[in-house]
Amino acid sequence: MKKTVRDVEVRGKRVLTRCDFNVPMEDGKITNDTRIRAALPTIKYLMENGAKVILMSHLGRPKGEPDHKYSLEPVARRLAELLEHKVVFAQSDVVVDDEVRDAVGVMAEGDVMLLENTRFREEETHNAPNFTQELASLGDLFVNDAFGTAHRAHCSTAGVADFMPAVSGFLIEKEIKFLGEAVEDPARPFVAIMGGAKVSDKILLVEQMMKKVDTVIIGGGMAYTFYKAMGLEIGKSILDEDGIELAASLMKQAEEKGVQLLLPLDTVCADEFSNDAKTCVVDRDAIPADMMGMDIGPKSVEAFGKVIREAGTVVWNGPMGVFEMDNFAAGTKQVAQAVADCQGVTVIGGGDSAAAVEKFGFADQMTHISTGGGASLEFLEGKKLPGVEVLEDK
Ligand code: ADP
Ligand code: MG
Repeated sequence: MKKTVRDVEVRGKRVLTRCDFNVPMEDGKITNDTRIRAALPTIKYLMENGAKVILMSHLGRPKGEPDHKYSLEPVARRLAELLEHKVVFAQSDVVVDDEVRDAVGVMAEGDVMLLENTRFREEETHNAPNFTQELASLGDLFVNDAFGTAHRAHCSTAGVADFMPAVSGFLIEKEIKFLGEAVEDPARPFVAIMGGAKVSDKILLVEQMMKKVDTVIIGGGMAYTFYKAMGLEIGKSILDEDGIELAASLMKQAEEKGVQLLLPLDTVCADEFSNDAKTCVVDRDAIPADMMGMDIGPKSVEAFGKVIREAGTVVWNGPMGVFEMDNFAAGTKQVAQAVADCQGVTVIGGGDSAAAVEKFGFADQMTHISTGGGASLEFLEGKKLPGVEVLEDK
């Protein structure tokens, strides 16, 4: 168990807090402030308990130099509105300079400051000691609340913990609780649903899950590489050439371990990668050579749904089809419905899977939707996340 802000004294301390304020922007306007809202509980807790709250985040991908279209200034303004409290924006192209240090020096308990985009400094993503030390000079305690970057060892996500005690905020606490419990101590049957585009992206995850689950369901673009390994015609479906052997080996591993591995029974095919394509639904051994598989078919939905509804724990990573196109969204939508119907613990990890669950309106019926994307994938794969590892144990 990692310590959280509740486990340490924050009063009077300069609390350097890493948030995920990497919000979508258009023409300098924030188009979705979900991530800012998600950070409020930790920030409010710190304010109410008398901390001097110094917030850090990255935004977008400035190329290691100041680029004002990625300034966090709009975030500071939005944050102030949401908090109904003043937020000092520490404008500086180098993130930390004498003026910023002076501004921190005059902070009172309960004050909030937001530093400029940490990726204005090229050292940030290299976890370089000089920038780490500059950031660290501003704080007495490090709070990491940015799960989405926890799989990266950057100055602001991990480095600063070398210089001060480090604990988690409420968002990271929730992520490691739900993702961790789901895989470490699952209620059974434990079902993993895997999908997405490429096998090689998810190979480690499937292997890792295979050690723990009772059933692995494979859908989405990954399925065609498995079909190929089975010797089936896959037409123009997405294929991961390098993954064919891996797929074969995974099927063998499943058999040896007594893990049920379910592949789609049927598939929705299209003559081109477009929502307006000509389509047909065929069994998996009848994919026309000139068409491509875009979604799982109704027989698959039925078979998968039955297993999912009876699960004690479900971990889902990767959509069942090209859900961004309405004509190929049904498989993902119906699997999401089955996960929503499941009475067990249901955890969604993966950016596109989370987006699909939101889009189809099932978000509030899931136990936990990870905000992590790549970080949740690495966590589920059993990898150590630098931004979590640096936090103190209870
Ligand atoms: P996640 O973000 O949940 O981990 P991925 O990024 O691995 O998921 O995969 C999501 C992508 O996979 C989506 O953009 C979706 O369109 C694509 N995909 C799913 N099924 C297919 C398919 N049959 N052919 C091509 N792409 C697919
Ligand atoms: Mg994705």
